[in-house]
Amino acid sequence: MYCKKCGKKAFTRIQYARMNLCRDHFIEFFHNRIESTVKRYHLFKAGERLLIAVSGGKDSIALLYAITTLYRDKNEISALFINLGIPIYSDISENIVKSVCERLNIPLIIYNLKEEIGKTLPEIHKESHRKICSICGVIKRYIINKIAYDNKFDVVLTGHTMDDHVAFAMKHLLIGDISSFIRLSPKTQTDREMKLIGRAKPLYETYEKETILYCIANELPFVSMSCPFSTRTPVTRWKFAANELEKNEPGLKIRIVRTAAKKLIPFFQEYTVDASKQQERKLCKICGMPTSSDICAFCRLTKREEVMRIENRKK
Ligand code: AMP
Ligand code: ZN
Ligand code: ZN
Repeated sequence: MYCKKCGKKAFTRIQYARMNLCRDHFIEFFHNRIESTVKRYHLFKAGERLLIAVSGGKDSIALLYAITTLYRDKNEISALFINLGIPIYSDISENIVKSVCERLNIPLIIYNLKEEIGKTLPEIHKESHRKICSICGVIKRYIINKIAYDNKFDVVLTGHTMDDHVAFAMKHLLIGDISSFIRLSPKTQTDREMKLIGRAKPLYETYEKETILYCIANELPFVSMSCPFSTRTPVTRWKFAANELEKNEPGLKIRIVRTAAKKLIPFFQEYTVDASKQQERKLCKICGMPTSSDICAFCRLTKREEVMRIENRKK
């Protein structure tokens, strides 16, 4: 197997493009895909301040390294890691994120949940009826937005890949969960008045297996253990189904995400615009961050005494 571009020994084969590439040409291919995604979906502009949310997994480590390599001359870039206090897992992840940020020489903001609010994720879970993964999602979404807002970043970048989007798009669309489907857009808008910072996904058209190869090609460490609380979610089965379809039709996943972004999401956004206007947007009575009810989901989970005091006052 030899590289199609230079004839050197191949590092990998890109199945849907039917070509073998050496290490350097694979890195170039990966970078070109990210640059074209940033342009195609207008993810961010030169001069904007970017905050990259990094978990330490292969996807967000690859994202951090590629974006910094490509854009550090045009944008101010920082990373954010949230330590949720998951035994062993959170500390291993933190050390990996630290080491990659040191190698890149970029600032890293570390938010430690136990130090900031006095409880770890497993401790919050003990006091709640909700599933731990859903609590984790609420906490991460809230903290990423709050840190980005407080530190005046223009856009947050996350490491969601094309495989994540295809699986969720199939699931949400086929079971008719249109409001979740709309959220699979490659970019959401910033609304400073509502204290909402937009999110962009530069790996929207990048295969998950290519993020591992990119980490290997650049000798980047990443967390290989999975979260001790993660269970096989139904979305794993949708990923499997999408991979089966892609086997017979290489390139199908790219077509699915492009159709979703350019046609289906705008169509459903227009269709649901009246419903979303009716849902009043407010600011939380405790923390002042955006919410659709009086008190936000983060405060309900982490400030139970204060929530009870406010709710008792109402009675
Ligand atoms: P997940 O929700 O675990 O699938 O992760 C999706 C994306 O959210 C990752 O690619 C990161 O960009 C971001 N993310 C997840 N966990 C963390 C964390 N602990 N700290 C910062 N960002 C995170
Ligand atoms: Zn080559
Ligand atoms: Zn709140």
